[in-house]
Amino acid sequence: MIKVAKFGGSSVADATQFAKVRNIIQADPDRRFIVVSACGKSHDEDHKVTDLLYLCHAHLKYGVSYESLMKMVEEKYRKIHQQLQIRLDIDKEFASIRKLMDKNIDLDYLVSRGEYLCAKMMADYLDAEFIDAKDLLAFDYDGSLNYAKIKAKLDEHLGKGKRLVIPGFYGSFPNGKIHLMSRGGSDVTGAIIANVLDADIYENFTDVPGIMIADPRIVKDPKVIKRITYNELREMSYMGANVLHEEAIFPVKSKHIPIHILNTNDPKASGTLIVENCDELDKNDDPYPITGITGRQNFSVINIVKSHSSNEVGVLAKALSIVSRYNVSVESA
Ligand code: ASP
Repeated sequence: MIKVAKFGGSSVADATQFAKVRNIIQADPDRRFIVVSACGKSHDEDHKVTDLLYLCHAHLKYGVSYESLMKMVEEKYRKIHQQLQIRLDIDKEFASIRKLMDKNIDLDYLVSRGEYLCAKMMADYLDAEFIDAKDLLAFDYDGSLNYAKIKAKLDEHLGKGKRLVIPGFYGSFPNGKIHLMSRGGSDVTGAIIANVLDADIYENFTDVPGIMIADPRIVKDPKVIKRITYNELREMSYMGANVLHEEAIFPVKSKHIPIHILNTNDPKASGTLIVENCDELDKNDDPYPITGITGRQNFSVINIVKSHSSNEVGVLAKALSIVSRYNVSVESA
């Protein structure tokens, strides 16, 4: 069985979380393909490494000292490195980043270092092979992914039998320049790897028990949705429920690979399984006729009634032209 397991930022936020990831991986020999985000927040006042790196670049651009920001990034990684006795030469890694920072470092390159360093440390900690996403996730110049190249690259590593750890969120153009995906893009990396491998399942480990029936900020203690279809999920995320990057659905949906949303802090809990069709699944397992409830603010429905309009040409276009004059987007007409 082929499983791709992706761990989000909070799952790799500190040494304790790294240890949880290792337990999860070691509990199942099928979990051979691991994708990680950059270290996230380990407590409420903490900062995501990706946010800090974006800020560092902005400071560099405007000639403001980035030292305190970079220090926060370094401290986070150095602490994990030291607590878990990771062998990676972290001094060398940071020295080479800092050297480039003195010389107009590229934004995508700098920000991608969050995932890169996290995956390098995780590979060392798991005694797995590290693959740089720069050498694997091949983008064409128009920003589209070149699946054939990705497959060929991945095949080169398959025979070795070791677990693979891949940084999420970035890849590279044919000239080798790093290309970042949109925020939360590690979900997409995991989905692409699952597609290319024809995986049996894509496990997405987060810090929540799964996708909730309703927004927990509005409804107290909502239940976790056990099963949901890709289409229902799209509808839910479109309406604001965001557990998974929207673009992570397409690569797995096209190959009918289920996505399992799981919690790193409670890995035995059932989580949410995202599948093509829930009808095939055991109804007793999930007896609710409604999958979930979601909503969106600043969303209006306009009803226009006009007699005999079906015989008139251009009514709809006329109505829509008013909406566009006020620069309002239309969901469907
Ligand atoms: N680290 C990136 C972000 O914070 C990508 C990811 O976590 O998926 O958006």
